[in-house]
Amino acid sequence: MIDTQPFWNPFLETLDREKLQRLQLRKFKRIFKWAYEHSRFHRSLYDRAGITPNDIRSLDDIHRVPTVEKSMMRDIQRKDPFPYGDALCVPLEDVTEFRQTSGTTGQPVYQPDTWQDWEWWAECWAYILWAQGYRPRDRVFIPFGYNIFVAFWAGHYGAEKIGCEVVPGGVLDTAARILKIQELKATAMMATPTYVLGMADVARTQLGIDPASLSIEKITCAGECGASILTTKHRMESAWGARVYDHAGATEIGAWSYECQAQSGGLHVNEGLFLVEIQDMDTGEIITEPGRRGKMIITAFDRIAQPCVRFDSKDVIEWADYACPCGRTYRLIKGGILGRADDITKVKGVLLSPSTIEEVVRGVEGLGNEYEVIVEKQGDTDRITLKVEFVREAETRRADIERELVGQLRLKTNLRYDLQFFSLGALPRYEVKARRFKDLRSKA
Ligand SMILES: [Zn+2]
Repeated sequence: MIDTQPFWNPFLETLDREKLQRLQLRKFKRIFKWAYEHSRFHRSLYDRAGITPNDIRSLDDIHRVPTVEKSMMRDIQRKDPFPYGDALCVPLEDVTEFRQTSGTTGQPVYQPDTWQDWEWWAECWAYILWAQGYRPRDRVFIPFGYNIFVAFWAGHYGAEKIGCEVVPGGVLDTAARILKIQELKATAMMATPTYVLGMADVARTQLGIDPASLSIEKITCAGECGASILTTKHRMESAWGARVYDHAGATEIGAWSYECQAQSGGLHVNEGLFLVEIQDMDTGEIITEPGRRGKMIITAFDRIAQPCVRFDSKDVIEWADYACPCGRTYRLIKGGILGRADDITKVKGVLLSPSTIEEVVRGVEGLGNEYEVIVEKQGDTDRITLKVEFVREAETRRADIERELVGQLRLKTNLRYDLQFFSLGALPRYEVKARRFKDLRSKA
């Protein structure tokens, strides 16, 4: 691979739409047939809907294929073969990887992969990293616990695949990881936005190191939306003196999207390897035009052990109305993942997306990175409490900061909040994925 080549796969990433769609149709039929013929779960789902692989003649026909929900995957796993259940399409002895979902709610879903699937994971990540400027000369530090979640495991293999040198930061604690980055002059790293900000805090407060003085040039984020929330991205970029890129993926799906070096305000969908459809949450209609939000239905074309065919991800996205200046023809989703269909909730009759609150809090200078939102019922009305922290030098400007926060919240979310202010360090800290939004109304 030539270092100056901007695309990991120049053929696929610049394919014209007509050819790309023909390829997608062919690949969809292949994985649909595979699932139909090898998984008892999929076979009975499709038989009940009266659809077979021969019925798929156009991209529109795909909309008739039933979607699969995460709750179904939990039921499947009560069946044989243990522990995956009857969506497994290969003999159990062909499975080489066990992972489980890391979602913040509900029972985890187990995910089997074959070695071929695992190589496919690495290939998906190779697109991401190459698009974000990773090259063989990079030394990539991975500050990740290498546990039961797929997360940066696949990023690790993807970085190796494109020729980077990879340093697994496994069981080291945060301070030790920072010192290792300093010692080895690592040039890139991958982490959740929560952890990227947390590491910067530890570097400054415990070690007296300015993270921007380290050699990190680029950071790939995953696991949370933060790198597409501009105020959070800005905090990470200025703390580390590095470019910060977003990527969205999921255990049950794969690594399906990436921000490129153009940072044009969206994520490219890897359309050569995935089919992304956006479904209107009220009517069920498939949205093809830009600017209308819906939830993502996604198919991974090449994953065989436990296929992902029209999986209802509950991620809320919308197509961008512009092409990316980088030259890729892969479509962009604007602003990354905008929220979860489950999280976007009505409060006092107004639609509220937790990521909007994050955008506001991280945009107010003088507030810390942590915050907590609690929605409760008080009598018949909803009450929202927002807890934030002051950074140390900001306590004296308290009144101005409070005024700005109230104004921005009102402007961006059209709601009133009970605000509680704390000093830095008082709110809970999270190592990997954060749970900052707590809706207690259903429990009441
Ligand atoms: Zn681009």
